[in-house]
Amino acid sequence: MSKLIKFNIDGQECMAEEGRYIVDAAKDNGVYIPTLCNIPGLKPKGSCRMCTVKVNGRLMTSCTTPVSDGMEIENHIEEIENYRKMIVELMFVSGNHFCPSCEKSGSCDLQALAYRYQMMVPRFPYTFSQKDVDGSSPLIIKDQNRCIMCKRCIRAIIDNEGRSFFTFKNRGIKLEVIMDKEMGQRMNEAEAEKAMEICPVGAILKKEKGYDVPIGQRKFDMKPIGSEIEN
Ligand code: SF4
Repeated sequence: MSKLIKFNIDGQECMAEEGRYIVDAAKDNGVYIPTLCNIPGLKPKGSCRMCTVKVNGRLMTSCTTPVSDGMEIENHIEEIENYRKMIVELMFVSGNHFCPSCEKSGSCDLQALAYRYQMMVPRFPYTFSQKDVDGSSPLIIKDQNRCIMCKRCIRAIIDNEGRSFFTFKNRGIKLEVIMDKEMGQRMNEAEAEKAMEICPVGAILKKEKGYDVPIGQRKFDMKPIGSEIEN
């Protein structure tokens, strides 16, 4: 077993095994740090930047930074919370998110974080960019309008030969996460279910599946995001 070390988050003394990532060590100590791209069990990527904290005064992503002895972490401070709210707002204006008509509403991490940060109207202009919806797979719909490009699907939805069903296309503002059409044709039920589940927003939806859980009884309708961790 690794050595136990002490560190603190916003003045709260915490303990963890040395080398554990800050986001996980915080969770073990009842402190919630929001993430949109992190998935337990997969190598962290730090792509969404929601989990940014200040470590000994420097901005770091907590999903990719291991804790060390005596570390001073700032998490729930105005500066950081404002950055997080800004990231959520940027995601809303760069995509086309219509929550009331989305099957993921109430189970969507992005929507839940918008509520957490009390986003009313984003401070940035909407881009209203033209984005594709790919319904070519018999089992799923890949909707680029709602994709926040967290890479979860690219990393987690892999076939038996280790090939990903999803990939990046283009660069810069034209960057997209698309489904490999040929692989989408032979995706099985379990892979399709997992893809819908792992997507933090409504960018991957399973066909012929809707309203299994009625609106008002969905995950974040019952408890706000982070409340399962926070003391
Ligand atoms: S489709 Fe979903 S899981 Fe994949 S990158 Fe987009 S938001 Fe993330």
